[in-house]
Amino acid sequence: MRQIDHFIQGFEGSDASARKHQIWNPSTGEVQAEVSLGDAALLDRAIANAKKVQPEWAATNPQKRARVMFEFKRLVEEHKQELAELLSSEHGKVVDDAHGDVQRGLEVIEYACGIPQVQKGEYTNGAGPGIDVYSMRQPLGIGAGITPFNFPAMIPMWMFGMAVAAGNAFILKPSERDPSVPVRLAELFVEAGAPEGLLQVVNGDKEMVDAILDHEDIAAVSFVGSSDIAHYVYKRGVAAGKRVQAMGGAKNHGIVMPDADLDQVVNDLSGAAFGSAGERCMALPVVVPVGEDTAERLKEKLIPAINALRVGVSTDKDAHYGPVVTPEHKQRVEDWITTAENEGGEIVIDGRDFTLQGHEDGFFVGPTLIDHVTPDMESYKEEIFGPVLQIVRATDFEHALKLPSDHQYGNGVAIFTRNGQAAREFAHRVNVGMVGINVPIPVPVSYHSFGGWKRSGFGDADQYGMEGMRFWTKAKKVTQRWPDGGGDGSNAFVIPTMG
Ligand code: NAD
Repeated sequence: MRQIDHFIQGFEGSDASARKHQIWNPSTGEVQAEVSLGDAALLDRAIANAKKVQPEWAATNPQKRARVMFEFKRLVEEHKQELAELLSSEHGKVVDDAHGDVQRGLEVIEYACGIPQVQKGEYTNGAGPGIDVYSMRQPLGIGAGITPFNFPAMIPMWMFGMAVAAGNAFILKPSERDPSVPVRLAELFVEAGAPEGLLQVVNGDKEMVDAILDHEDIAAVSFVGSSDIAHYVYKRGVAAGKRVQAMGGAKNHGIVMPDADLDQVVNDLSGAAFGSAGERCMALPVVVPVGEDTAERLKEKLIPAINALRVGVSTDKDAHYGPVVTPEHKQRVEDWITTAENEGGEIVIDGRDFTLQGHEDGFFVGPTLIDHVTPDMESYKEEIFGPVLQIVRATDFEHALKLPSDHQYGNGVAIFTRNGQAAREFAHRVNVGMVGINVPIPVPVSYHSFGGWKRSGFGDADQYGMEGMRFWTKAKKVTQRWPDGGGDGSNAFVIPTMG
């Protein structure tokens, strides 16, 4: 059995007494590896290493830090196929999609290569008589990231790319369901020239998460995962005096206006609802046609498109999507379809009990389409995170705007229309963090920032871009005066103003 260990400087091999977690191959339904689950003592070892190297790294000039990021980028590109295959074998997403997972993370590394420019401070010459004011952004010390199973390359790179480039040491606690790629990325980071101990991976579950949240030497925690855990992490981390950003679940809506290009919409929706078996926080699992006529026309086009989707093992080059991540997750998705049915939803295409010939034990769920879903249904309120598309019919624009705005999640939303005024109005008024206009999965590029609203994001800083840089650094503000000895005649007992 392949063993997956932590990546901690000076920690060799596995701890035989550690608890283990099984890693599936979702395409075959077999256990392919096991990962050691660490505890607080193991975290202490990683922190001790981080403390040794972080001050010198922070003092390294930003161009030299950037050179490590450049080399890391080159190495990840060189190993991209290997990383994508490893990722796909543990997660179940098809290899092409796994390439995208690596690439979107790499784009944040590219941004982090510009850290000398990004981390530059501000300066005002002559803010008062003989007075200059400047600010600098200094690293926090040691940061930690706790990541979900669904983007095992991209999300770790969102976090450590920015944190480390800015001068911090970083402890990554990846999902225990697919930890191999995060460990491999940390190995490549050392190969790129980073000091050992700067980026370490501790594997584990809730026990390790709690140890991270309580550790007094960790200054900031970035979390991405489901909302209840995000909220828990946020509260516990903040209570321990840390800076915390915690991104949660999602239920993204795609609004289809009567004037939308329906062929384009169906094509976009198929990928956005079913790609990666719907296991994306920016998937589009709810479509909202505006008006009955739009709903009927859309449904007529969606049915053949969904029936034509090919479900396959993750190495099948022709497959549109692969299995879901675990047998428990398959069961959960199928249970949600049953709940929707019991609540009065019309199961137009049923993906339950789907088996793939030759891979009967794989965790496959067939594409599912459910019509006549309404906002009072539990299956609408909660995230299903599977290849399931729900149709919620809206009477008009205001109704369509209200649905995502009132939903508990507010990660992403899209509107499909040819009407610029409607799109502009929608983008301005909708109560959701990321908006696509004729773009089904509006994940912002790396030099903007990523983050949802409401129960999709706790804390006030987004991931990557300038927001990421601000999250992983603290601003120091310096007001300086070099007196000439003559005094300026001001009353030192009155607060200085620029009046
Ligand atoms: P998850 O919440 O089960 O796990 C996320 C992390 O939390 C993992 O590292 C896990 O080990 C840890 N964890 C699990 N249970 C815990 C507990 N009881 N206490 C403390 N820590 C715990 O999420 P997942 O299933 O791995 O990922 C899917 C979820 O992540 C979905 O809800 C998806 O929408 C969300 N997600 C959100 C974003 C975003 O940016 N908003 C991005 C990707 C995924």
